[in-house]
Amino acid sequence: MNLSPNKTPMPVQPPEERRKNFGEVALGYGEAQAMEEAARCLSCKGRPCVGGCPVGTDIPGFIALIKEGKFEEAYETISRTSCLPAVCGRVCPQENQCEKYCVRGKKGEPVGIGALERFVADLHAERGVPAEKPQPNGRRVAVVGSGPAGLSCAGELAKRGYEVTVFEALHVAGGVLTYGIPEFRLPKKIVAREVEALRALGVKIETNAVAGKTFGIAELKAEGFEAVFLGTGAGLPKFMGIKGENAKGVFSANEYLTRVNLMKAYEEGSETPVCRAKKAVVVGGGNVAMDAARTAVRMGAEVTVVYRRSRAELPARGEEVRHAEEEGVCFRLLANPTEILTDGEENVIGVKCAEMTLGEPDASGRRRPVEKEGGGFVLEADCVIMALGTSPNPLLKRAEEGLSTGPRGEIAADGEGRTSLDGVFAGGDAVTGSATVILAMGAGKRAARAIDEYLQNK
Ligand code: FAD
Ligand code: SF4
Repeated sequence: MNLSPNKTPMPVQPPEERRKNFGEVALGYGEAQAMEEAARCLSCKGRPCVGGCPVGTDIPGFIALIKEGKFEEAYETISRTSCLPAVCGRVCPQENQCEKYCVRGKKGEPVGIGALERFVADLHAERGVPAEKPQPNGRRVAVVGSGPAGLSCAGELAKRGYEVTVFEALHVAGGVLTYGIPEFRLPKKIVAREVEALRALGVKIETNAVAGKTFGIAELKAEGFEAVFLGTGAGLPKFMGIKGENAKGVFSANEYLTRVNLMKAYEEGSETPVCRAKKAVVVGGGNVAMDAARTAVRMGAEVTVVYRRSRAELPARGEEVRHAEEEGVCFRLLANPTEILTDGEENVIGVKCAEMTLGEPDASGRRRPVEKEGGGFVLEADCVIMALGTSPNPLLKRAEEGLSTGPRGEIAADGEGRTSLDGVFAGGDAVTGSATVILAMGAGKRAARAIDEYLQNK
């Protein structure tokens, strides 16, 4: 047993180095470090950590196998509940999930569950263990969207023998994992590996296919797909509606990250146009804001994050905020943009901000930011990135008659993903609004089980 109150440190690229490259920041445990960390686990009978995992992974079970050096068996244990362990091990907010409930966290740091999951998944991939192709049952299901919800639904159905085709609007599969989360947090080769694993199970992936535009649900049914899963995410960015927001140099975080990540604007000689700012202002305080800020640092900018509440309310993961600060990102807290300032040619030259204070709690339970009388300040900037959240794209709602949606454009679905249309299921951010990878994955899996049941009874 390892009685250390602290986690076995995760090797990372030093801040001074990593702020100049897009290589992964956290480098992952080796075997010795993983076994040392696994030895901190107390194999608690009550399994509180499992209660904190949205997909109920057998955490003490897989950690016990690591302790014995049975790494492949540990992988099998995790993959019973998670189809993207290398991704979840990297990007799940473990501090609010499994690790939050870990008993070791009461008198020190919790067991590094995410780091151990990542270790096991990476080792499995290095070993290249081939997947067993299931016996086909001759029935076809269409999955629209290739983010974690669509991929997990497709994987689950393929394992049950269904012939699954995933239709993706972009030219590459993976959803936010590919176009949003930056390379330095989630290398694209890992997402590509997970997509390849699905192909090995027999899943077909058609890119550049936009539901509601290049095809519709009726056409899928006419082509012989007996059920459809909609995992189209929540990619529509929000803006503030302030003066100057249409100026040259103002981006939504989604667009900025897509240009840099997916379109590889960071590579030398890339033809993707992107703002190579000297001074960038990122508006927002969530994980997306941190990703945009840290990306802009790597693109050579001096970066300031403007957030209207205080540090205590920052919604981003503590680790992301710490990494951003280490990389030189400045934070202007309790501040809110009121106008984007431009030159005579509509280029951004600055951001006018009001100073804020915190009032009574609002509906979310967080104290409401209230503008202070007088004061205010201007931040010089040649690029502004808005990271204010996203909502589901209205394309499907407009195109598919009878598909019920909620007030924010989210597809209305029950806990198993059933929508208002017969044989059409939905899950992930398209239903919940912007959430997390593991929740999207869980929704995809539940919907796959419901689709299986629906088709068995059909
Ligand atoms: P998405 O991942 O959005 O995938 C939807 C897919 O559907 C996309 O590929 C899209 O192109 C496609 N699509 C959309 N419309 C159509 C159509 N009409 N036809 C065909 N295809 C279509 N979560 C975490 O847990 N940890 C993190 O660290 C984290 N960081 C994030 C960083 C960023 C920058 C962003 C934007 C999000 C982050 N999230 C994080 C949230 C997480 O990525 C999402 O909750 C998750 O990806 C949702 O999965 P999804 O499958 O529902 O949708
Ligand atoms: Fe191990 Fe922590 Fe889970 Fe207990 S709560 S079994 S110590 S990971």
